[in-house]
Amino acid sequence: MIASQVLEQSVVVFSKNYLPISKINVRRAIQLLITGKAEALDLTQESWLVRSPSMVLVVPAYIRLTVTSVERIWKVPPVNRREVLRRDNYTCQYCGSHKHLTLDHVIPVSRGGLHTWDNVVTACERCNQRKSDRTPIEASMPLHTKPKAPMHPTVAFAEQFWRSEPFPPEIGGTSKHNAETNIS
Ligand SMILES: [Zn+2]
Repeated sequence: MIASQVLEQSVVVFSKNYLPISKINVRRAIQLLITGKAEALDLTQESWLVRSPSMVLVVPAYIRLTVTSVERIWKVPPVNRREVLRRDNYTCQYCGSHKHLTLDHVIPVSRGGLHTWDNVVTACERCNQRKSDRTPIEASMPLHTKPKAPMHPTVAFAEQFWRSEPFPPEIGGTSKHNAETNIS
């Protein structure tokens, strides 16, 4: 593997409190490690060996911040077309279409439904018209997913991380991607 490829490989960053918070590349991880802002987190034997003329650095696949990360200010976004379509991945929540998208109130406003994250979904024009002033049950149009407010990005990352990482690592298992490279 050539140096530039290794530097772009990903390293998972944990907060000081051992919560997975994001993925960064090896290049950024090196900066955090040599400035003392992060340390190796020895979850597995996976690591990247990076050589420069003056040193050899082992960059582990998991690092932990040694400084308290200031939580970025994040608010639940407003319930509007842009944010709802983004949450629903630009997909009609009734039929899966990606075309002619509108917003639908699951419980119609005329029936007391609120303009809130758990009552507004993306619907294509056809489904919106077909559903009309009815609830999904009345219209026999079940929702693909239960609508809810978008998650804090850190929480979303952690959820995705725990779903995708096979922990605990196999005992005595071999490294998935040990690599050696030279940088100059
Ligand atoms: Zn539809």
